[in-house]
Parts: sequence; C-alpha cells; structure tokens
Amino acid sequence: MLEGFKQAKHLMTRSGSRPPWYADGLSFTCVNCGDCCGGAPGYVWVSPEETRAIAKLLGMSPERFEQQHTRRVEQRQSLLELADGDCEFLMREPDGKTHCSIHAARPRQCRTWPFWKSNLTSRRAWAASARHCPGMDRDEHHPLTVIQSALRQNDDADLPL
Ligand code: SF4
Ligand code: SF4
Repeated sequence: MLEGFKQAKHLMTRSGSRPPWYADGLSFTCVNCGDCCGGAPGYVWVSPEETRAIAKLLGMSPERFEQQHTRRVEQRQSLLELADGDCEFLMREPDGKTHCSIHAARPRQCRTWPFWKSNLTSRRAWAASARHCPGMDRDEHHPLTVIQSALRQNDDADLPL
C-alpha cells in the first residue's frame, strides 16, 4: 500500500489565521490503480461502527467479521492484508484495474483519501503523495468544504492520518 494510505503521520490552519494553501480546493479522481490498497504493509483502521457496517454488507456478524478480517494494533483494529500486502478487499481485474469489494462500506480512512492531514501540511507533502497516487491533481475539483469535512472526520475519529 502507499505509505500515506495506510499509516499516516501528521491541520488546518486555526480559525483566524491565514487560509490554507489548498483554500481554492484540490483535484482528485481515482483511476483504480489499486496502489494505495496494496504493496507495503500498513494499517487500514476500522472503528466498531465501520466494522458493523462492513459486516452487514458481507452478511456476517460483527464479531465474526472482526475475528476473521481484522487485527488488533494497540488501541485500534486494522483490516487484515494478504501476504503480498494487498488489502483483503482489493479485487484485481485482468485488465489491471482494481476495485474495492466493500466500496459502499469502506472505512473512513479510505473514503477521505487523499484529503488527509499528512498530505495537506504543505504543497510539498501533497506533491510527494501525488507521485504515488495518479488520481491526485486530476479531473474532479473538490472544494475547500469537502477537504475540511474529510479533515474533520478523521480528527473526530482520532485517526493518525
Ligand atoms: S488512483 Fe490513487 S486513490 Fe485511486 S487506487 Fe490509485 S493510488 Fe489509490
Ligand atoms: S477497504 Fe477497500 S479502499 Fe480500503 S484499503 Fe481495502 S480495498 Fe482499499
């Protein structure tokens, strides 16, 4: 997985300070390359609420889902990954495209990419992640409100992204 996608490391300017560098919004459209969901080992954090939603989608009990598809990492649960580093729910198609088999219930961490605090600390940080994610800086424009919402969601969930 992309280093940034799985375990992030570091916000918004405080109210009253100058606008963030991304105040005009940012572009992002996923091209389904799957690079963020496979590769180097890392973490995909799931909350109890997300665990219940994924389990429901898969027709499993939350307990069974947690037992079979997650692991404990300190105070959090993370989705399991395969030996090659792919997330268990990453589906690879013959044409090289990928998709997430739990897309409708994918965790907040996946939903909010690439609008993570760690990517937004500076233009440089954003550009560094964009070198590994071909969807960044392309096509759909996401306004500041969307970016702020993603930041808020991850902050509220206390995700280390
Ligand atoms: S384009 Fe980016 S977000 Fe989409 S699958 Fe590839 S690395 Fe992941
Ligand atoms: S849950 Fe889906 S979007 Fe998230 S890492 Fe796994 S395959 Fe990728």
